[in-house]
Amino acid sequence: MRDGQAHLLAVLSVIISGIVIFAFFGVSKADFVSMPEEQVAIPAFAGVGLYDQLEILAENERVDLEAEIKKYLRVSLPEKTKESDIKITADYVKRNLHIEINNTDEEYQSSRPVMGSCNHIADVSYGHEGKKTFIDLTLDGVYEYEAASHDNQLIVKFLKPKDVYDKVIVVDAGHGGSHPGTNRNDVLEKDLTLSIVLYLKNLLDKSDIKVYYTRVDDSNPSFDERVQLANQIEADFFLSVHINADERSSQPNGTEVLYYTADNRSMRFANICVDQLSNALNSKNRGITNGDTIYIIHNSLVPVALAEVGFLSNNAEFSQLCSKSYQKKAAQGLYNAIIEAYEEMQGGGK
Ligand SMILES: [Zn+2]
Repeated sequence: MRDGQAHLLAVLSVIISGIVIFAFFGVSKADFVSMPEEQVAIPAFAGVGLYDQLEILAENERVDLEAEIKKYLRVSLPEKTKESDIKITADYVKRNLHIEINNTDEEYQSSRPVMGSCNHIADVSYGHEGKKTFIDLTLDGVYEYEAASHDNQLIVKFLKPKDVYDKVIVVDAGHGGSHPGTNRNDVLEKDLTLSIVLYLKNLLDKSDIKVYYTRVDDSNPSFDERVQLANQIEADFFLSVHINADERSSQPNGTEVLYYTADNRSMRFANICVDQLSNALNSKNRGITNGDTIYIIHNSLVPVALAEVGFLSNNAEFSQLCSKSYQKKAAQGLYNAIIEAYEEMQGGGK
């Protein structure tokens, strides 16, 4: 079932890229880098922490370190803040950065410790529970971040994903939460799309492509959150995964991919997807289809393809779609499509 018809009830989705725990050292040059597990180091400063980067800048370009630090978002920390006291989690779909500082009191929270540059900050809210203070930063876009400590301050620098990673895509598992999509008996589209996307993630995790997922659990981001993730990141490709069904007949079977007719690059990407996917699945290649009425397609500013892997309404394909081996083949086909799209569409410029 396609995404066009449904309403926009958003269930809180938390795509947490990783919990970052900082290391503090009791010297003036106390640094650490916030690198969620799947992130790679910033290429220009591979293996160097944010504070080190600033120091290098200061040494090489004679910038004033203290003045430089003032350009970033800063959070003043209580003096005895320790290495295990700070956690930062990023939710790229909700554009939220959640900072948790342990061993703090209410007084600290009421001191409103966020200061410095408010570039990229749309809103700040504070909370306190037990010994923990929470600082929630709502950002005006999707950013990666680095953080360091210096002089009882947490310094946070925001970076555009495209400035950090060469290759960036968004992968969307269709439906989720209270929106199951199409179904047959107790087999739900949302579970099949998630399973395929998680197999795809296994493959992409080993590649040099940075992938932002709209969901990796049973959450249900709104259509707008899904497509804006791709737009904000300026993703090279936006791939959405769905399962088809025909309400009138059990005959139709095979693989098709929807695209945006106003965008040649979307058409090319969709063509690559449908060929690679039907090859990998040995399914009937139904070709590409006009997807202009689908919200996430006509609102996408980047090359988009919405893959309908197969038909739940077809008996043979229903049993195949339920099998892990077929789901893995689908993931392999989509992976091959992404690799081919980079080779064919990104080589020698866009
Ligand atoms: Zn669907």
